[in-house]
Amino acid sequence: METKAIATRPHCLVLSFPGQGHINPMIQFSKLLVHEGVKITLATTCFYSKTLQNVPPYISLESISDGFHNGGFGEAGTFKAYLGRFCQVGPPTLVDLIEKLAKLGNPIDCIIYDSVAPWALDVAKRFGIVGASYFTQNMAVNSIYYHVQLGKIKVPLIESEISLPSMPKLQLCDMPSFFHNCDDEDLALLGLVVGQFSNVDKADWVLCNSFYELDKEVTDWTTKIWPKFRTIGPNIPSVFLDKRIKDDEDYGAAAFKSEEECMEWLDNKPNGSVVYVSFGSLVPLDEEQMREIAYGLRDSNHYFLWVVRTSEEIKLPKDFAKKSEKGLVVTWCSQLKVLSHQSVACFVTHCGWNSTLESLSLGVPTIVVPQWSDQITNAKYMVDVWKVGIRVPINEKKIVKSEALRDCIKEMMECEKGKDMKNNAMQWKSLVLKAVSDGGGSSYENIMEFVNSLFTCSQ
Ligand code: UDP
Repeated sequence: METKAIATRPHCLVLSFPGQGHINPMIQFSKLLVHEGVKITLATTCFYSKTLQNVPPYISLESISDGFHNGGFGEAGTFKAYLGRFCQVGPPTLVDLIEKLAKLGNPIDCIIYDSVAPWALDVAKRFGIVGASYFTQNMAVNSIYYHVQLGKIKVPLIESEISLPSMPKLQLCDMPSFFHNCDDEDLALLGLVVGQFSNVDKADWVLCNSFYELDKEVTDWTTKIWPKFRTIGPNIPSVFLDKRIKDDEDYGAAAFKSEEECMEWLDNKPNGSVVYVSFGSLVPLDEEQMREIAYGLRDSNHYFLWVVRTSEEIKLPKDFAKKSEKGLVVTWCSQLKVLSHQSVACFVTHCGWNSTLESLSLGVPTIVVPQWSDQITNAKYMVDVWKVGIRVPINEKKIVKSEALRDCIKEMMECEKGKDMKNNAMQWKSLVLKAVSDGGGSSYENIMEFVNSLFTCSQ
């Protein structure tokens, strides 16, 4: 990558939680900073760092401990066990890493830490270096968690309708999944996301992978609380947006290997004819849900490209071919390349925040099938606020039936509503391009303000 020639470069340690949805935007933000002359060391957990492929050569990769060096989360077995141990061993090993880098003549000027690791800010303060919290989720969702931290939303929820500043009214069914079940695992995860706000008022910067125009009200409201709150997204490789970084063709640092042949398959399909389907990197579907999706896709009679991770393949119905006249199932793909392909018409998505931002950025309308966590609230926004999505109804067992999915695909692909959604998605795409533009875009200006402050503090 071409970087600006600068005598003294500030050095940032970017600390990412292990997970594709965290590492993708954080590595992308890192690349933008490198492009502006900042030196980056990326750190994640020991086991996870070993699974990452294609980390760009100009970013050094280091690790800290989560206590599970032989299998990460899989070794821990539960979120409760994993998060409890990570909080204990993460901070001292982060301290060791900072000391090691200083001894090697590479002192750190700033830690950009994943907001779900707020203890990294305490470490930054201990060393007297800048601490920037990086939020990988939608700010509206974060606002819900912040109100739990303030004690203004109680868990379990008693109200059927939630009213929060600068947000539409939310029904219980629009709230993140942790409010629905409240078992031990949900509570452990709720603790993680609410904990993001435990010390955020002491952070020097609060950065969020979103853009001002997407949610002006919440952004304005949040900036009043944390004056150093800035939207700096969407953090998506340049080639799909502003083309500022020439060789920036994909995120880099994937824990899965893409099946590139799906691109050739797409090349051979008519423009706007393919339904792309993915449930992201984490969510498991149960066998019944998998069967209903499989038959819904088949019965829609449209072309489909479906990502079914290796760990999920066993749940596909026995009579369902991975390659057929209409469909192709792959274990992983470059989602950005797929979404920007001319033959892709729409995206059946679980509404992970990155997938949400990617669909908006590339102007692809969605059919929303949220499963878990913030996905539920993201889906509400996609359908009712940003008006780029069709919601597939669920039955009393919370399953999307094949007929329901088939009908939504037909509505998107064959009816006026699909055209409206596409037009809306294209309008969001142009707002994204404006936000990241170096001609005064809101996110671009915020990134430059942050970069300039790094140069000032490292002198
Ligand atoms: N992704 C990908 N290939 C796939 C499926 C997903 O590259 O086959 C990427 C996708 O582009 C996104 C990330 O994985 O950047 C998933 O993050 P998201 O927040 O959407 O969901 P999560 O995996 O955290 O549930």
